[in-house]
Amino acid sequence: MSEPILSVEGLHVSYGRVDAVRDVSFAVEPGALVALIGANGAGKTSILNAIAGLVRPRSGAVRFNGRDITRKPAYRLVKAGLVQVPEGREILGTLTVDENLSLGGWHRSRTMAGSIAEVYERFPILHERRKLPAGALSGGEQQMLAIARSLVAKPEVLLLDEPSMGLAPKIIDEVFAVIAEIRATGTTVVLVEQNARRALAAADVGYVLETGEITHSGPARDLLSDERVIEAYLGLS
Ligand code: ATP
Repeated sequence: MSEPILSVEGLHVSYGRVDAVRDVSFAVEPGALVALIGANGAGKTSILNAIAGLVRPRSGAVRFNGRDITRKPAYRLVKAGLVQVPEGREILGTLTVDENLSLGGWHRSRTMAGSIAEVYERFPILHERRKLPAGALSGGEQQMLAIARSLVAKPEVLLLDEPSMGLAPKIIDEVFAVIAEIRATGTTVVLVEQNARRALAAADVGYVLETGEITHSGPARDLLSDERVIEAYLGLS
């Protein structure tokens, strides 16, 4: 086994008296796609935010490329190659598509134009709409924009929070196709999803969270056929 590119050890996140994440540990191999699944409020977003430097964990450690990055500010982590696509996309609706993409490359002004040209090649629809305010895009296009914006930052590890949220099934297919493409380029992906079946189908390894704790973990294909996981998260379909 190679050294993990990212690891979380004994992570604990609290908001006042609410313990959102309790003693969570996992490691991510370079190039892997790892899915964190679980019900609403299970602590998935809190884990991503703690990794990305957006929430201060109460205890525990996060390591990225062998370095302890616990409590490092988010902007430093983006520069180092750890980039998050937030839940709800956080597109700036009054700015154009072009301007939103430029925000993804704020820290790499010399090479940004090339990165934006690359993402336009991958997302021709965004190129077509580049002069429009981002708020005029459909939900699916806005999700593509949020992902494209993160790619401008050239992530080594991409943290994706609920990319399928609120999208129609056909658009969800497109989003998962893009995730598979990103992964095929060698980018490591940590995917948080309520759409457990789709997430596990795309992932190598899965972790199931329940009220802040990991209750099941293993190769994603094993979780997809695990009776306890099926009963609790995958329904009977
Ligand atoms: P969702 O799918 O709804 O985003 P989640 O699995 O990502 O759920 P979290 O958003 O991490 O879960 O929330 C875990 C717990 O922490 C929940 O009980 C939630 O109410 C609580 N929580 C999250 N953010 C805050 C906050 N800023 N202040 C107080 N409590 C919070």
